[in-house]
Amino acid sequence: MTSRLEQALEHLKSNGVRMTPQRNAILSYLLNTMSHPTADEIYKALSPRFPNMSVATVYNNLKVFIEAGLVREMTYGDQSSRFDADLSDHYHALCEECGKLVDFAYKPLDDLEKTAGELTGFKVKSHRLEVYGTCSDCASKAKA
Ligand SMILES: [Zn+2]
Ligand SMILES: [Zn+2]
Repeated sequence: MTSRLEQALEHLKSNGVRMTPQRNAILSYLLNTMSHPTADEIYKALSPRFPNMSVATVYNNLKVFIEAGLVREMTYGDQSSRFDADLSDHYHALCEECGKLVDFAYKPLDDLEKTAGELTGFKVKSHRLEVYGTCSDCASKAKA
């Protein structure tokens, strides 16, 4: 059994991407977290191990992973992008209080894409769906 990290590394190698210790650390961090971190959060988590690494380095490496199809970037208007190495079909719930982003599984909305295509004449490629609200932590804090 190969791990997701090994598969990812193999994929990068076949795309001609050179692996560095920093790249390896960023990728493993993303594969092991459920928190959908921003580039800044990844930087803060890894800077004790890589004191010479900058946020820009983290960002550039993330771009490499995105281009290689290993990482998905989620943009939020003026707010920092978040990064997800889980490319399986899943959806997100965003807490409007603390900004926490949580995965949930739901059947892929193929109907929605089909209908959208029919109504707009678009060749629909993908869609993005999020629900917004208050997470249980924030809800219980508000009650206390
Ligand atoms: Zn919250
Ligand atoms: Zn996710």
